[in-house]
Amino acid sequence: RIVYLNGDYLPEEEAKVSVFDRGFLMADGVYEVTSVLDGKLLEFEGHLKRLERSLSELDMDKPEGFDDLLEIHRELVKRNDVEQGGVYLQITRGAADRDFVYPKDAKPTLVLFTQSKPLLDTPAAANGISVIFADDIRWGRRDIKTVQLLYPSMCKMMAKAAGADDAWLVEDGFVTEGSSNNAYIVKGNKIITRGLSNDILHGITRASLLKYASEAQMEIEERNFTPDEARDADEAFISSASTFVMPVVKVDGSVIGDGTPGAVSKRLREIYVDESRKRAI
Ligand code: PLP
Repeated sequence: RIVYLNGDYLPEEEAKVSVFDRGFLMADGVYEVTSVLDGKLLEFEGHLKRLERSLSELDMDKPEGFDDLLEIHRELVKRNDVEQGGVYLQITRGAADRDFVYPKDAKPTLVLFTQSKPLLDTPAAANGISVIFADDIRWGRRDIKTVQLLYPSMCKMMAKAAGADDAWLVEDGFVTEGSSNNAYIVKGNKIITRGLSNDILHGITRASLLKYASEAQMEIEERNFTPDEARDADEAFISSASTFVMPVVKVDGSVIGDGTPGAVSKRLREIYVDESRKRAI
């Protein structure tokens, strides 16, 4: 695999970063994942905008090459012959002697690599996934897409140990979001999902999905919902760049609907894939 590191396209074995990189020492970095379908990028503009916001919220400089990110994405997709999968991008504050205070003159590190994997016709998309609940003990700036992913990793492990696929996080009696996705329930054809705040990541997929849903005259309610409401929902699903819209058929052991992907979730997945595919670049 060819990866991109600070201006160079390199075989992955040759791409090396300093042990003093603050991404490595302090999780002082941000990331984005852009999906690839038909060899093209989905939602590139949205991911780029969120990346700029993450950098600015953390007072992190843009790395060299920032203005060429579209070209770099495309080049990596081409060099690695990605038909379906994603491009992972990470920017860290760079290497400096270890100190909590931000270094003045560190050069940000820019890394991109691709992952080829099926996104469209997966068993999970066809059959739906199951989720458990876990306490949301993450920090208070979940709107910034940082590389601090230890707790989400722990949540995936807890889900696995419980025989489930993923975890929905719960804070103050309400579901915030999934460990790496936004969470939705459907009640009487109404799509319910938590509103935007610093408590959740502002999903790029979420934003487009809600736009397409409202254009299709589907009813949307942006509000907090409880674990009990989720267990009792007619349907449930998640959204993220790599899962698009993924039906959830079991919540904390309760079967949702008849235990197969619901009509609203299936329709939304279709609409989302069609619309984002049309706009792919
Ligand atoms: N919420 C969290 C915590 C995430 O990690 C992600 C994606 O990685 C999302 C939501 C979904 O965001 P997007 O649709 O931009 O992939």
